[in-house]
Amino acid sequence: MKTELFGLFTHEIAAAIIPCGLEQYRAKQIGEWLYRHGVENFIDMKNIPLTQRILLDSQFTIIKSKVRCAQHAADKSTDKYLLEYQDGAAVETVLMRHKYGNSICVSTQVGCAMGCRFCASSLLGKSRDLSTGEILRQVLFIQQILKQEGSKLHSLVIMGTGEPLENYDNVLRFMRLCHEPYCLNLSYRHMTLSTSGLVPQIDALADEGLPITLSISLHAPNNSVRSELMPINKKYPIELLLSAADRYAAKTGRRVTYEYILLQGINSLPEQARELAVLLRGRLANVNLIPANPVPERGILRPNSSSVREFLTILQQRGITATVRKEMGSDIQAACGQLRYQSFKGISKSE
Ligand code: SAH
Repeated sequence: MKTELFGLFTHEIAAAIIPCGLEQYRAKQIGEWLYRHGVENFIDMKNIPLTQRILLDSQFTIIKSKVRCAQHAADKSTDKYLLEYQDGAAVETVLMRHKYGNSICVSTQVGCAMGCRFCASSLLGKSRDLSTGEILRQVLFIQQILKQEGSKLHSLVIMGTGEPLENYDNVLRFMRLCHEPYCLNLSYRHMTLSTSGLVPQIDALADEGLPITLSISLHAPNNSVRSELMPINKKYPIELLLSAADRYAAKTGRRVTYEYILLQGINSLPEQARELAVLLRGRLANVNLIPANPVPERGILRPNSSSVREFLTILQQRGITATVRKEMGSDIQAACGQLRYQSFKGISKSE
């Protein structure tokens, strides 16, 4: 069995290659080839002697991915890719070109087990967690595209398919690796992690001391609506979730973002906005309203734009910091899990 190097820190690469007779300093060179240059073959690591490259190739592997399909928004703001790993598992990765810079949205699991009613990611269930290297490969893939265009990555959002805190160790390693100077040298302040609300892991994350932005998928102003929409609420109801978020804000000094998807006839009425304002009053919070991306399989609809504006105004009038998420790429099925689901259906049809 060959050992996987992609996804290891340089001290771990050193521990793997020294027994093969390579010098310690080669680990940093390998790390830079893997993470800064994005090479997928040892043979391309030009500052390492050829005999060592051949040796590396016989002992180690590098995670690769290929594009199964790609969609590009008409306005060029968003590119969505379905990337396939060597075992055939495929996940979505999205490049969003904002005014303030380029952002990548990564997936952390193959499918999702959370079962949120409005989300396409759960339609096929979860097949497995992604490894640190597999998550990082998504970033390196996008990084190469940006490099060719002469631009670079500004921020990272962990908001693709999967519940990142259910794959805690791999996701934490991934963020730390992105921060390393020999990797992306990305500031933690430019990383956002979104969770459906796993309370023990939110506390664990607060203890890591990383100044990342925590984003919580709240989506409802009370337990009865939230439990309808998100099965996880039966395990960790709103009171527990909000106190974990408060502890997170207190420990890290970072304002927590609450995502609130607006679903017609379910959670977007004016009285629900008032209830949400009471719930969040006095908290270090930002509310991000997301008019639902329609997912036909889920039978969900977004409210009209005047209801969205009214919901926003009610929150703002009550002193809650709130914005409506700028819509990007809805013409390319950028809603969570939609491309993967469509592709899966396409494959089943042609079989
Ligand atoms: N599992 C994590 C991260 C992935 S989802 C989480 O739940 O936070 C990222 C965000 O997109 C979540 O807030 C999710 O609830 C939301 N989302 C899912 N389906 C959506 C849809 N059809 N329209 C708009 N937002 C959606």
